[in-house]
Amino acid sequence: MATATAKSESAAGNGVLKPEHDGSRKHLLFTDEHEDLRESMQAWVQKELYPHRNEWEETTWPNEAMKRAGELGYLGLCFPEEYGGQGGDYFYSIVRAECMSYSASGGTNMGFAVQTDMVLPPIEMLGTEEQKQKYLPPSIKGEKIGCLGITEPGAGSDVAGIRTKAVKDGDDYLISGSKTFITNGVRADFIVLVAKTDPDARHDGITLFIVDLRDDEGDLVEGFEIARKLEKMGMHASDTAELSFDEVRVPADAVLGEVGKGFYHISWELQSERMVAAAGCVAGAERMFEKTLEYAKDREAFGRPIGKFQAIRHKFAEMATKIEAAKQFNYVTAWRYANGEYPVREISMVKLQTSQMCCEVADECVQILGGYGYMKEYEIERSYRDVRLNRIGAGTDEIMLEVIGRSYGL
Ligand SMILES: Cc1cc2nc3c(=O)[nH]c(=O)nc-3n(C[C@H](O)[C@H](O)[C@H](O)COP(=O)(O)OP(=O)(O)OC[C@H]3O[C@@H](n4cnc5c(N)ncnc54)[C@H](O)[C@@H]3O)c2cc1C
Repeated sequence: MATATAKSESAAGNGVLKPEHDGSRKHLLFTDEHEDLRESMQAWVQKELYPHRNEWEETTWPNEAMKRAGELGYLGLCFPEEYGGQGGDYFYSIVRAECMSYSASGGTNMGFAVQTDMVLPPIEMLGTEEQKQKYLPPSIKGEKIGCLGITEPGAGSDVAGIRTKAVKDGDDYLISGSKTFITNGVRADFIVLVAKTDPDARHDGITLFIVDLRDDEGDLVEGFEIARKLEKMGMHASDTAELSFDEVRVPADAVLGEVGKGFYHISWELQSERMVAAAGCVAGAERMFEKTLEYAKDREAFGRPIGKFQAIRHKFAEMATKIEAAKQFNYVTAWRYANGEYPVREISMVKLQTSQMCCEVADECVQILGGYGYMKEYEIERSYRDVRLNRIGAGTDEIMLEVIGRSYGL
């Protein structure tokens, strides 16, 4: 009660309790250290990434941007100090994803998230000491860039249906097959690759490999080819490739984790991928909301700002409620994950809910901006195209529903 009394005194002044809409208190998940990072990283994103948002739609983000993030310590926030990281808890990863949303470039954010939350965590979790020494420090510095190869032309959602194979040849493996839709695939130095080591088995015939894609001179290794650079609906600032492997020779110590356990390893990796996607969706929705709110306060029709029409005001109220609900659900799930649980059902729910929510918010924001929402010079047009990927990548809506439904024994 003491807290309530103190609150009423500070909020009321004259003894009348008034709503506080702009409370600046941080979420209970975050400490002062997380907030310090937020302040510095957000300022960096706004100063050094945001100004390039349009240019990078044409050129894709430059490798130097990743190097710069590495120099500033933004790629290794949650990785152990012995590999060049900061040794922070999982919540730093959420802060990182939230800060990246200020770039207004979904493609850049996705390229960075592939490195920090998709490629490096399995290496840290499953790698041998040699693998960690070889890949973590240069990747955390942004000097090496990785990509993740699960999807194939003939198998996406059905990971156990992949055809890329790794065949034993003496002490080595020869890798052959195709991967498609691979983010960072055009520029990557190495790939965390999912391949079949037993083509007759489904889930138990899969193994993960770390494969160097370039030699010391930066040339593609023998048998590896960037078959196609793919054109996309959105996320233009990221590069997406179809990759071809024709008997690419790798040593036995390129195996990541255990032979035959790759399906389970990659299922673990996908949880981290879904969590960072969810954080990106929430933060992206917040940025769209803010920009659109500003517009609705300024744009006039019929003699008043459009935000003063009840129809528009209610759109904001609906969006804000959805964003806040998704954010809190995401934070609670992240808290469980960070505390050692493996809440796959809730991660799937959060992935599903945040993906759908940010697409709905994007659609409403375009609507509120009217014709300007459809124009490239207003950033909502890009966000609208970029966020659509969330309902497909890292596991489609339908697959999330399957995971959730099956978790109830159905
Ligand atoms: C821009 C972009 C970047 C990507 N980046 C990467 C990357 O870096 N690495 C990588 O490995 N992959 C990446 N992906 C691939 C992505 O993860 C897949 O597209 C996704 O998993 C879906 O696979 P699919 O496209 O083959 O669709 P499919 O699996 O063929 O699905 C087609 C449709 O059928 C539905 N469906 C499939 N199975 C079921 C089922 N059991 N029940 C109900 N419905 C079902 C799906 O939900 C979907 O609607 C990326 C994709 C895109 C578009």
